Amino acid sequence: MNSKRGTSPEDIYLYDDPDAAGLDVDYLAHWLRERLPRTPVETRRDFLTHHLGRLGDLERAAHLERLQRDLGAAEVTNLVNPADRDRLPTELPADRGWDLVYEGTALQTALATLLPPEESGAGDVHIVFTVSYLGEWPTDRTLLRLRVLVPGRPHLVSISSLIEGLDLPRQYHFMRQQVAMFGMTDMLDELAEQFSDQALGYGDERLNEVLKGLVLQAIFQQLTGDPGCPSPRCRLHTPSSHAQALRTQARGHPGLCDRHASILRSWGGVPE
Ligand SMILES: [Zn+2]
Repeated sequence: MNSKRGTSPEDIYLYDDPDAAGLDVDYLAHWLRERLPRTPVETRRDFLTHHLGRLGDLERAAHLERLQRDLGAAEVTNLVNPADRDRLPTELPADRGWDLVYEGTALQTALATLLPPEESGAGDVHIVFTVSYLGEWPTDRTLLRLRVLVPGRPHLVSISSLIEGLDLPRQYHFMRQQVAMFGMTDMLDELAEQFSDQALGYGDERLNEVLKGLVLQAIFQQLTGDPGCPSPRCRLHTPSSHAQALRTQARGHPGLCDRHASILRSWGGVPE
């Protein structure tokens, strides 16, 4: 512990998800070290493999049993808000082609118990990338809302929520629905190519550019409590659409607004 604790990042840990096509945690870590040269940035395998792997057999078995229960409870098998299930039919994630969906904060709570005390300081930032979908039930909606970033300890970043949860260009959305309705799924790739300048796809080489913004959002959220930035030119801006995410994170000269750049500098950081 030192005097900076609570005001600047101490250690940043990025957890891979080997199933996430296009995700490159080493590239992100390299970029982050340039932004925050004073802060050690470590890449790790996926969160469960890393943290279960450092435990002894008995402790691991106890955690596995608990995790099985907690992850089961966190999994979403009906997209309808629990408050509305009496009056609405079940909506299965599989009907949308979504494999594994978790209630974001429940998954976060389940994973948090694996963080060791020595890595749980105010300046220790854990960022877990996952292909699982993450969501929440807002009080004003009957269906689950996908969440790209679930900030906290650890921060969760869902690649699938990013790609499926942001608004697509209207025409692309319409054409995708048509293609799916007529079972012409082999045309999806062609469509994705056609709209690639306005929409991110799976395995997209721009994925890591967009993830830079989410990594910074997680760090700023933890250390400043700042939920984001209203400026669409700042990497901390929360986009509602694919087109906006690409404009902010992957076009021209992405970076932080003046206010957030000055906070980064106060951490010994180097804005882009
Ligand atoms: Zn900003």
